[in-house]
Amino acid sequence: MMLTVEQARNKILKAVSALPVDRRHISNSQGCILAEDVYANENIPPFRNSAMDGFAVIADDLQGASKDQPATLSIVEVIPAGHAPQQTLKSGQAAKIMTGAMLPEGADSVVMVEVTQSDQQRVQIYESVTKEKNVRFPGESVKTGDLVMSKGKQIRPQEIAMLASLNTGQVDVFRSPVVAVISTGDELTELGQDLDPGKIRDSNRYGICAQVEEAGYQALDLGICRDNEAELEQTLRRGLTKADALVTSGGVSVGEYDIVKSVLSRLGEINFWRVAMKPGKPQAFGLAEGKPIFGLPGNPVSSLTVFDLFVRPALRKMAGHTILNRPIFCAVLQQNVVNNSDRVNYTRAIIEKRDGQYYAQVTGAQGSGILHSLVLANGLITIPPETTVKSGELVELQFFGNAL
Ligand code: AMP
Ligand code: MG
Repeated sequence: MMLTVEQARNKILKAVSALPVDRRHISNSQGCILAEDVYANENIPPFRNSAMDGFAVIADDLQGASKDQPATLSIVEVIPAGHAPQQTLKSGQAAKIMTGAMLPEGADSVVMVEVTQSDQQRVQIYESVTKEKNVRFPGESVKTGDLVMSKGKQIRPQEIAMLASLNTGQVDVFRSPVVAVISTGDELTELGQDLDPGKIRDSNRYGICAQVEEAGYQALDLGICRDNEAELEQTLRRGLTKADALVTSGGVSVGEYDIVKSVLSRLGEINFWRVAMKPGKPQAFGLAEGKPIFGLPGNPVSSLTVFDLFVRPALRKMAGHTILNRPIFCAVLQQNVVNNSDRVNYTRAIIEKRDGQYYAQVTGAQGSGILHSLVLANGLITIPPETTVKSGELVELQFFGNAL
């Protein structure tokens, strides 16, 4: 039986769940998902303060002030940021004040320095001002007791800044997965070694580790495994003791040396699927010791594509995310593309935005071993089974990377 992409992904996502909670210092929490609601236990800002460098005044004193008829006030003190005012302002008085400094009692507004002229004793003000102008009120950002961030929110730089301003140094987050990555195949050669006849470079392991890291998680590189059952089993078992998930590449097809299947079957409940997609039809997925194992196909474009569509969302769920899949956009196709197969094609494309509209152009030969057309692409467009999409028609797309 052949599964659709959605069926396969739903089965995977159902089988994995968020990892246990971890307490982290906020400086070490970027990218993590909050596992608790965060409330404010103090007002931000904590006191009434000035939004400008200028003069704290009583607005009524400046009625009718203009360029020709400035109001003149006497300066009773200077209040730098971080210093409490010493006096209560009375009618006819002003305090020189800096941005962020506490407003003195009696003052109700601030005029900016640009509309004033002053010496040590006096200030002339050339504009009237409305009450509360340039004043920041206690709790105007957040009030004591407010729910500021909810469980499930991803921590970005602005959340870290907010947590610091709430005096919250430690937060509960979902633990991020550590992912063991293993390449399989007798033909694979490590970087820097000579290529003997019949051998190729191992590119998948580097690509997959990078995909794990791009998603924000830790990759554990377990190297190349020969097509040897004992060696592979030992490496996979090592992965299970050290990581939260395992990803292998190669050996899940129908070839005679596709031994990954028999070894995986011994480790746990592993299913071997044909998914109605191209590239990436043969795949393995299952659980061993409660940890997900993803058997990606060996062809370089297939392994990277299957990771993006299946492994990445599963890792996100393990990390506590609720938005798992990449967003889908629409683009105008700029050429005819034929899909004669009964599988949806994930076609490598370069997508550009012009006049508010995305346009997609295929990046060249689409064989599942042709990594170069993936290098030229910034996204994948989908061509449904048995369909010809004509130039000018719309296709669905998803971008690579983390920007979108
Ligand atoms: P397999 O799924 O093991 O039959 O491999 C399918 C194709 O992908 C073969 O041409 C392999 O040589 C190639 N391949 C498998 N693993 C890798 C890898 N780690 N890096 C590059 N190519 C690979
Ligand atoms: Mg192989």
